[in-house]
Amino acid sequence: MPAEKLVFPGRNYLYAPGPTHIPVEVQNAMVVPMEDHRAPDFPQLVKPLLRDLNKIFKTRTGKSFIFPATGTAGWEVALTNTLSPGDRVLTARFGQFSHLWADLAQRMGLDVELVQVKWGEGVPLKQFEQILRKDKEHKIKAVLACHNETATGVTSNIAGLRRAMDRAKHPAMLMVDGVSSIASIDFRMDEWKVDVAVSGSQKGFMLPAGMALVCFSRRALAAAKTAKCKRCFLDIADHIATNKDGFFPYTPSAPMLRGLRASIDLLLGEGLDNVFQRHHRLAEGVRQAISGWGLDLCAAEPKWYSDTVSAIKVPRNVNAAEVIHIAYHRYNISLGAGLSEVAGKVFRIGHLGDNNEVRMMAALGGVEMAMRDAGMKVRPGSGVAKAVEYYCDTARGKKKIPAFGAAKGPRETAVKKKAAPKRKKK
Ligand SMILES: *Cc1c(COP(=O)(O)O)cnc(C)c1O
Repeated sequence: MPAEKLVFPGRNYLYAPGPTHIPVEVQNAMVVPMEDHRAPDFPQLVKPLLRDLNKIFKTRTGKSFIFPATGTAGWEVALTNTLSPGDRVLTARFGQFSHLWADLAQRMGLDVELVQVKWGEGVPLKQFEQILRKDKEHKIKAVLACHNETATGVTSNIAGLRRAMDRAKHPAMLMVDGVSSIASIDFRMDEWKVDVAVSGSQKGFMLPAGMALVCFSRRALAAAKTAKCKRCFLDIADHIATNKDGFFPYTPSAPMLRGLRASIDLLLGEGLDNVFQRHHRLAEGVRQAISGWGLDLCAAEPKWYSDTVSAIKVPRNVNAAEVIHIAYHRYNISLGAGLSEVAGKVFRIGHLGDNNEVRMMAALGGVEMAMRDAGMKVRPGSGVAKAVEYYCDTARGKKKIPAFGAAKGPRETAVKKKAAPKRKKK
């Protein structure tokens, strides 16, 4: 074990926007003896799991798939199962993840029409609409959109993108990277007529990395029948053939499936709308703190603000990587790094997954200390105070707690029991 890991009492807090903390319920569900994935009762786990995954994607007519891989494989599943080499796709680059998906599309042999967008903004709806309108021959087969650009903390308007595509009367498929949005912020597969949605296990699903969760619309399933891109391990046809009986085409990670069961139970138990509201409120508290520090988000306008991750710009004379370095080594918290074009310019606070007010306060306190240590002029408490105010003010009335004095703690009960016989004596 590395020595520096041993000198830390307390725990390391993950505020990178993935992997996220694993709830105790999910962690415990994964600690199971290894099981036979061809056992006759295995389908009793798999079939309802795939059905309930549809609920997270908000689809009645789509089909969910679980691949033993990461979100990156999900991108490849989406493209290779629906397209043929040379097919044109339209996408935009405005952060490391939208960049990587476009790069993957290119490397898969697709003809990528790439719109460069300033980092800090999202999918350019008007420009996409114009491009689609001009494409009279319908050469563009798919539009790829990164719903939540994790590198810059920017959320794009997928409902708006659907409307833009409809206005242009363009038949291209709509494919969405929802790795850091699905299960954390509003996503509606059917309503937004999304053809392929991609997610991963280690963000909103609060699991270890290692599962690509992908959902296909009926239209995308039909496209898979004629798509000529080479695929084998990531072919959905093999999954369709085996999933229908509750099995997989190769060995699934059973503990991960057990964990996913627990994670989906938690999400549906809380209610997706409540999950989204919680994420919004926690994110808003973080944004209040950032304004208290006098700092700016990488996201250029409030309409782009992400409820799952905030990328915070540091002044020019500061290296954001040093803040992250100090935060980790001195305070045992993991922040998200600035990636590629924003390396050193931003650090990120992930606020997705299994979080509450106090966990966010720990993040904000730790960040405040690390920024101070890194030589930034931050008045102690300036961000923390704003978040305290916001969380307290918005909790009142919203969070139901028992009336004070109504619930008897064990101490009060014990005192009463002792006192009772005395009163009987006359
Ligand atoms: C994390 C992430 C990915 C890819 O994730 P891996 O699981 O590391 O392959 C893709 N897109 C977005 C938006 C992400 O946040």
